Amino acid sequence: MNTPVSKIIIAIDGHSSTGKSSFAKAIAAKLGYIYVDSGAMYRAVTLYGLQHGLISDDGKINTKALIAALPDIQIEFRNIDGQNITFLQQVNVEHDIRSIKVSQLVSDVSAIAEVRTHLVHAQQLMGKDKGIVMDGRDIGTVVFPQAELKIFMTADPHVRAKRRYKELVAKGGQVSLQEILQHIIQRDYIDEHRTITPLRKADDALLLDNSHLTLADQMKWFEGIAAKY
Ligand code: C5P
Repeated sequence: MNTPVSKIIIAIDGHSSTGKSSFAKAIAAKLGYIYVDSGAMYRAVTLYGLQHGLISDDGKINTKALIAALPDIQIEFRNIDGQNITFLQQVNVEHDIRSIKVSQLVSDVSAIAEVRTHLVHAQQLMGKDKGIVMDGRDIGTVVFPQAELKIFMTADPHVRAKRRYKELVAKGGQVSLQEILQHIIQRDYIDEHRTITPLRKADDALLLDNSHLTLADQMKWFEGIAAKY
């Protein structure tokens, strides 16, 4: 496969559970680029809030206190055995940030303007030397509007729910497919309707609907695109 001659920024946005992370990771591995999961950063802030009583168990966010805590929240990614692992305050939280509780609250946390400004700044610093693949919701529109390559991913909500269901069941989770479908539809709605930087496809992003595509199919599609760089 052709590797872009000079390092570029690849921005991957799209709906939740469309396999953005798997696709972005595969691209980063192929190109020898850094991979950053921006969603993990929003999840880590949410987990911090829960751990420090800034978000109550029933989901009430003490917005002022959470904003005040932002400078103290240390999020980093470490490569462990080839896996990109999220650390919060030096602790491996890769598992905890994927819990149902965090998944239910993260969209509300990510709708707080100050949280977004704080994380967007951190993400922009990570991309200052290019050679990066970042996935999220606002990467091509806000974080790196100058990205050389932007991809927007979507898929049928029912297909996404089935994929997520399989993943959770494999991990021993006890959830119903219907519950997951509702959750996906609700997350799409919050992400697309929040007042601050709602999820939308950048005008210059390439659309990838992977409802009926495997990861291998998507990589083939990507190779065709990368050949143009
Ligand atoms: O990608 P993931 O599903 O882990 O992201 C979790 C949540 O974080 C999303 O549902 C969205 O609300 C928020 N998010 C965001 N902007 C990003 C990445 C994630 O608002 N760049």
